[in-house]
Amino acid sequence: MAIIGIDLGTTNSLVSVYQDGKVQIIQNIFGENQIPSAVAVDEKGRILVGRPAKERIYRYPKDCAIEFKRQMGNIERIEIGEKSYLPEELSAFVLKKCKEEAEIYLNEEVTEAVISVPAYFDNQQREATKNAAKIAGLVCNRIINEPSAAALAHRMHTGISMEQYILVIDFGGGTLDVSLVDCFENIVEIVGVSGDNQLGGKNFDEQIAKAFLKENKLDAKYLSSEEYSLVIRKAEEVKIALGGKEKVTMGCKIKDKLYTMVITQEKLLSITGNLLMALKDVMVKVIQDAGCTIEEITDVLLAGGCCRLQIIQNYLRELFHREITFPNDIQELVVKGLGYYTGIMEKKAGLEEILVTDVCPFSLGVNVSGQSINQVMSVIIPRNSTLPKKAAKEYISKTKTQKEMVFSVYQGENYYAEENKKLGEIRIPLYPTPGKLQTVLTTFSYDINGILCVEVKNSQGIKMKKKLLGTGSTTPDKNIFQEKYLPRELEEYTAIHEKLARLYAEASERNREELERWIDSIEYAKEHEGYVENIKLLRGVKRYMEAYEEAVCGENIFQMNIADMFYDNRDSYL
Ligand code: ADP
Ligand code: MG
Repeated sequence: MAIIGIDLGTTNSLVSVYQDGKVQIIQNIFGENQIPSAVAVDEKGRILVGRPAKERIYRYPKDCAIEFKRQMGNIERIEIGEKSYLPEELSAFVLKKCKEEAEIYLNEEVTEAVISVPAYFDNQQREATKNAAKIAGLVCNRIINEPSAAALAHRMHTGISMEQYILVIDFGGGTLDVSLVDCFENIVEIVGVSGDNQLGGKNFDEQIAKAFLKENKLDAKYLSSEEYSLVIRKAEEVKIALGGKEKVTMGCKIKDKLYTMVITQEKLLSITGNLLMALKDVMVKVIQDAGCTIEEITDVLLAGGCCRLQIIQNYLRELFHREITFPNDIQELVVKGLGYYTGIMEKKAGLEEILVTDVCPFSLGVNVSGQSINQVMSVIIPRNSTLPKKAAKEYISKTKTQKEMVFSVYQGENYYAEENKKLGEIRIPLYPTPGKLQTVLTTFSYDINGILCVEVKNSQGIKMKKKLLGTGSTTPDKNIFQEKYLPRELEEYTAIHEKLARLYAEASERNREELERWIDSIEYAKEHEGYVENIKLLRGVKRYMEAYEEAVCGENIFQMNIADMFYDNRDSYL
C-alpha cells in the first residue's frame, strides 16, 4: 500500500506519491495540482471541501472557513454556517479530500501519509496536525518540516553531492518559514530554522486592501463582510496580476459605485515595506543562529507562492548580492520533496538512502515552582539542537522537608519562564531524609516529530513521565465521515455555479444576460448529471469564463468599462 505525501498548506494543499521511479503530483477532479485549503457548508447543510468551498466564500463568507492552519492547535472553534469545528477538524476535511484524490488516482486504499508543517510549528501544532490525520483516517508516522522537504526536492533535482548550504525561504499564503539546510552526501540536515506563522501572502493582500480603502476614503467599519471580502479578493488579484508589470489598476464595485487605485511596483513596495523588513528579521535570525555569514550560503532557494512577487525577488537579490534560485515549480517544491521522502521510506529502487534530520525550533526548559524569586527558565534543550535529542539536568529541593517538586515546562527564548509558552506541568513526590536536600533528575526527550516527553526521577528512583501536548490541546474523536458531503460528481458543477453567480453579482447589466443563461444551463446540468452533453457544456462554460475574466481582468485590469464591452455569445463557446 502506497504512502502519500501531503503538503497541508494554509492556502493550498497538494498530494504526491512516488511511483515508477518518479514523484507524481496527484491531480484533482479539476485537473489541478492544488486543492484550496477551504471548507464550507451549503444551503443543504452539506460539507464542501477545496475548490467549491473556495468559490463559495465570495458570496457566503460566513459559511466558509479558510486559513485555519493559522489557528492549528487552538481550542477555539471556527463557525461555518450553523456548525462549528476545531482547526484540526477543518484540516481533517482537507486531509480526507487529499486521501480520496490519492485513492482514486492509485485505485487502492491509502492509510498512511507523511505530512509537512512549517518548521516553526510547536508541539501543540504538530500534535494537532497528527490528530487531524487521525480524524481523516490516515496514520501519520512522520511529520516533516516544509523547508526540509523543499531542500530534499532541490537536492534530488540537482543531484549535487558536494556540500551545499541552502537558505530555504518558504513564503506561503499565511506563514513564512526560513531554514538553513546543509546538504552533504546523503544527508539533508537542517542547521537552523526560524519563521513567523502569522506572516504570508495574506498580509500583502490586507495591506493593499487597506491602502485601497484609505485612498478611496472608505471605512472598513461600514463595509459588509461580503464587501470587505470582495476588496480582499481584488487586492489578491491585483497583487498576482502585477507580476513583472510596471502598473495595474485595482477596481472594486461597492454599493454600485466603482472605486479604483493604480498600483505600481514602487507603490507596492511602499505599502508592504514593513513586511519585507519582517522577512529580513527572520532571515537574519537564522543566519546568525547558525553562526555563518551570507558568503557561506551556497544557494538561496525560494518556495511558496508569495516568492513570486517581483518586489521580494528584487529585495533578496539586493540583499544577497547574487542571483536567486527561482524554480518554476515554486509552489510544488515541498510536495515533491515529500514524494521523494515517501519513496525513501518505502525503499523504492533507484532512490539512494537519504537521511533527513531536523532541529528543535525552540529552547525547551523548566521552571521549578517556588525555587527562585525570579522564576527564570532553566533551559534543558537549547533551540536548533539536532533531533532526536535527549538531555537531562539535576535540580535540588529548596528545603530539607519538602514533600513535592513541581516542574513547569516551557518553550521559548525569554529569560523569565512566564514570558514563554507553558506546555504543561509534572509533579514528583519527595521523601525527605533528615538533614539532606533531595535531588530530582529531569530528562527531556524530543523526538523527530517534535513531540516532547518529560521524565522526572527522585533520589529514591521513583519516576514520573509525561508526554506533553501543551496547554489546551484536545484529542477530539469526531467522526467527520458521518457528515453529509457534497457528492464528488457535483463538485465541478458546484464550483462553476458558484463562480458564475459571483461573476454575475459583479457584472454590468449587459453582461448579466449572458451569464444568466450559463447559470441556467449549469443548474439544469447539475440535476441531469451524466449526459455526454454536459462534458461539452462544462468545457464551454470554462472557456467562456476564462475569456470573460480575461476581458474583465485582462491587461489593464479591473476597469468595469472593459467588462461592459464583454457580452460574447454563449453558443460560440459550445
Ligand atoms: P501555502 O503553502 O501557505 O498554502 P502557497 O505557497 O500556495 O501557500 O502560496 C499562496 C500565496 O501565494 C497566496 O497568498 C497567493 O496570493 C500567493 N501567490 C500565488 N501566486 C502568486 C503570484 N503570481 N504573485 C504573487 N503572489 C502569488
Ligand atoms: Mg506551503
